[in-house]
Amino acid sequence: MIGIIGAMNEEIVQLKEIMKIDETIKIGDFEFFKGEIFGKKVVLVECGIGKVNAAICSTLLIQEMKVEKVLFTGVAGGVNPEIEIGDIVISTDLMEYDFDCTAFGYKNGVIPRMESSEFKSCENLVAIANKAAKNIFENKKIFTGRIVSGDTFVASVEKIRWLREIFNAECTEMEGASVAHVCQVLKKPFVIIRSISDKANHEASVNFDEFVKLAAQNSKRLIEEILKLI
Ligand code: SAH
Repeated sequence: MIGIIGAMNEEIVQLKEIMKIDETIKIGDFEFFKGEIFGKKVVLVECGIGKVNAAICSTLLIQEMKVEKVLFTGVAGGVNPEIEIGDIVISTDLMEYDFDCTAFGYKNGVIPRMESSEFKSCENLVAIANKAAKNIFENKKIFTGRIVSGDTFVASVEKIRWLREIFNAECTEMEGASVAHVCQVLKKPFVIIRSISDKANHEASVNFDEFVKLAAQNSKRLIEEILKLI
């Protein structure tokens, strides 16, 4: 069983349309759609925006829905200056950039007393995602690298410079690292797929509204292709 998460309706609605839904299970505010896509058993869920929503939802997805691996599909703000709206980012690892215990001498993003705060994606899923991206996207750049998450919609050039300099991030969003954090703690393989909806600068909110559907569609197409190869 494969778990698929998106934060917003825009990010899951198209997968839901092609899914054969056998059962809808409600836990709290979350609706888990259990069924099949291309003959693969999946559970699809919209987790809501931000790190806490994403953490609750992925915990339930693993513990209650018993998924064996987790895929995340969604949109993000570009941080790498070479990235353009519509491009794709496949996570190698993720960090919670707003975790700050620097007063004790820890680096930004380091969570004290955890074995690792750099949550590593499953190498096999990353390889499959890259292969899938090459199969379907001809005119898009595919970036494989670090994604950072925090509870902020980033719309500032200073902030993206900082995220690039300190974390070497490819893109920023609000859920991926917390899904990754849960998967690391509960020992489940995962990969986060993001398509760029904006460049996290002063135009980000306008670009976001314009490109969110298109970017969500790119990410969904990649998930479809991954499901064929997995
Ligand atoms: N406009 C929405 C809010 C979107 S919040 C509303 O009113 O409901 C942004 C969402 O897209 C989050 O789920 C986040 O993961 C992602 N995202 C896209 N661009 C981002 C950016 N520049 N900074 C942070 N998150 C971003």
